[in-house]
Amino acid sequence: MMDSQIHKIHQQLVDKKISCTALVQQKLNALKENTNNTVNSLLDDLALKLAAKVDVKIAKGDPIGLLEGIPFGIKDVYMLQGTYTTASSNLLKNYKSAYTATAIQKLLDAGAIPIVKENCDSFGHGSSSENTIFGAVKNANNPDLVGGGSSGGSAVNVAKEYTIFSIGGDTGGSVRQPAGYNHVYGLKPTYGRISRYGLMAYASSTDCVGPIAKSVEDIRIVLNAMSGKDVKDQTTYASAEITKDSILNSKSIKTIGYFKNFIENDAIDSKIKADFLIAIEKIKAKGIEVKELDFFKSDILVSTYYTLAMAETASNLSRLDGSNYGNRIEDKNLKESYAITRSENFSEETKRRIVGGNQVLSQGFSDEIYLKGLALRDAISENFENDFKEVDIILSPVTPNSPPKIGDSLKDPHAMYLSDAYTVGFSLGQLPTLTIPQGTETGLQITAAKNNDELVLKFANFLKDTI
Ligand code: GLN
Repeated sequence: MMDSQIHKIHQQLVDKKISCTALVQQKLNALKENTNNTVNSLLDDLALKLAAKVDVKIAKGDPIGLLEGIPFGIKDVYMLQGTYTTASSNLLKNYKSAYTATAIQKLLDAGAIPIVKENCDSFGHGSSSENTIFGAVKNANNPDLVGGGSSGGSAVNVAKEYTIFSIGGDTGGSVRQPAGYNHVYGLKPTYGRISRYGLMAYASSTDCVGPIAKSVEDIRIVLNAMSGKDVKDQTTYASAEITKDSILNSKSIKTIGYFKNFIENDAIDSKIKADFLIAIEKIKAKGIEVKELDFFKSDILVSTYYTLAMAETASNLSRLDGSNYGNRIEDKNLKESYAITRSENFSEETKRRIVGGNQVLSQGFSDEIYLKGLALRDAISENFENDFKEVDIILSPVTPNSPPKIGDSLKDPHAMYLSDAYTVGFSLGQLPTLTIPQGTETGLQITAAKNNDELVLKFANFLKDTI
C-alpha cells in the first residue's frame, strides 16, 4: 500500500497538496526533456484539458475516483481517437487513430489521464526497442544498454517516474522483459481478460494488454480498471474484481515449481542462475514446498513461438498496403504500388517476419511447419495443465541474460529471439504472468494457471517481503 504511487498521488490531489494541472505539466516537461527516447508523441493538449476538469471537481469538493487525474503512458500501438498511432513505423508515421481501444477507453472512463504515446519496437517486433523510427530506447538504469522490448518506452517511463503507470502490449514477453530490464513490475494477464480491441494486432492468439507500474497494488488497480468482457473482442471473458485485501494474504500458496532445464542450461548467465537459486532457498525457508518440473527445451519454445507469431503477423499486416491507411507510394500499377509501399515502409525486422510468416503459411510448407507449430503449442499447454495440478505457482527468471548494449541485438536477430526463451512459453499457454523487480538482475517471473491472475499478485506480495 505504502509504495502505491496511485494511492499516494490520489491523496495528494484530494488534500490539494498538488493540482492535477501542475502534476500533469510536470510529467509532460519531464517527458519532453527525457534523453531515453521514450516519447513518440506527447498528448499535451488532451492531457491538460482533462487535468483542468479534475481540478474543477476537486475545487468544488466533488469526490474523485482512485484513478482520476493519474497520468499514464500508452505504448504507441493502441488506438486513442485523434492521436498519432504509429507502431513506431514509417508506414503509419502520420496515421491518426479513428477510434479508441477498449482498454484505454476504460481508463479514460475511470478518469486517468493519457500523456504520451510511447516508443516501442515497430508492430511489437523485437526485444530491445531498437526496431523503431524514433531511435533506440535507452535503459532507465544505464543509457548504454537497451530499454528492452517491445514495450521499452513504457517500462523506462515508469522506472523514471515520467508516467505513474504505462500500458504495454505483450505477445511473447514485451511487457515482462522490459519491466525486468528496468526494475519495475509488468503483468501479462490471462489471455482474454482484457479486450484487444484497438490494440494493433501482432500475433492475435497471444496478444495481451498489460500494465507496467512500480507496485503490485498499482498493477492490481489498473488491471481491474481494464478487465472485462467486450463484444468487440470475442476472446474476452468476464472476470471478478481482484480486491485489495485478497492479495495481501498468500496462505493458499503451498507449493511452487520451477523448470529445471531453464536453470540447468548453458545459455543462462551464471549470476542470474545463482541469484535465482538463492531466491528459491529463501522461499523454501518460509515453509513453501518447491518442486523441480520438466519442460520443453527453451529452443523448442522459441521456435514454436516465432513460427506461429510470424505466421500471424504476416497475415495481420497484409492489410497494410497503403490503400486504406499509411504512407502510400505510387508506382506504375497497383501491384507495384503495394510492393514499393511495403518494402520502403516496413523495417528490416518486420519484413523478416512477414517473409518468414508467409513461408510458414504457404502451400507445400504449412503442413510441415505451421501445423507442427500448432501441435507443439497444444503439447505445451497440456504440459502446463499437468504442472498446475502439482504446483500453485511457477517461478522463473525473466531472461537468461542481462540487457544487451545498444546496437548488439540488431546485429544478431537470432540471438535476440533466443533471449525470449523464458517468456514465450507462458504466452503460448495464455497464462497470467508477472515480472517483479526482485531476485535476479532482470527480475523474476511469477506464473499461475489460466484465470488465476489474483494468485500471481498474491505471490508477488509475498515475495516482496521474502526475498
Ligand atoms: N520479443 C518478442 C517478439 O519479438 C515478443 C514481442 C512482443 O511481446 N510484442 O516477438
